[in-house]
Amino acid sequence: MTESGPSIFSRIVAREIPATIVAETDDLIAIEDINPQADVHVLVIPKTETYANVSELAAGDPALLSRLVALAQSIADDRAGGQYRLIFNSGASAGQTVFHVHAHVLAGDLGEATLV
Ligand code: IMP
Repeated sequence: MTESGPSIFSRIVAREIPATIVAETDDLIAIEDINPQADVHVLVIPKTETYANVSELAAGDPALLSRLVALAQSIADDRAGGQYRLIFNSGASAGQTVFHVHAHVLAGDLGEATLV
């Protein structure tokens, strides 16, 4: 929660905003990116918005980060033969726009997607 309220991902978790949900566990949700940059472009997101970026998540709850990676792997197993690119943008100048940690899972035909 920031001064502007819950993050867009928290609002998706709360079903206040629609999203295409790919997978959900007790503490993670995976959704289709609204602006896909590759054949498969899924966001894997901790339900808590406690952590703004991957370093905070790694320091604060490494087991949750590990479960996030495992969920990314299982999505890639289902949709892309287990091969994928996992991207965490960390900081505005690195392209991060939502400050609620999330991983981009890119797979399949990556096209021009070297960055997201
Ligand atoms: P970032 O730039 O690494 O912070 O990634 C944020 C991602 O969230 C971008 O790829 C957006 O396309 C995606 N995004 C923003 N709003 C929504 C939404 O409502 N549903 C699904 N994806 C979203």
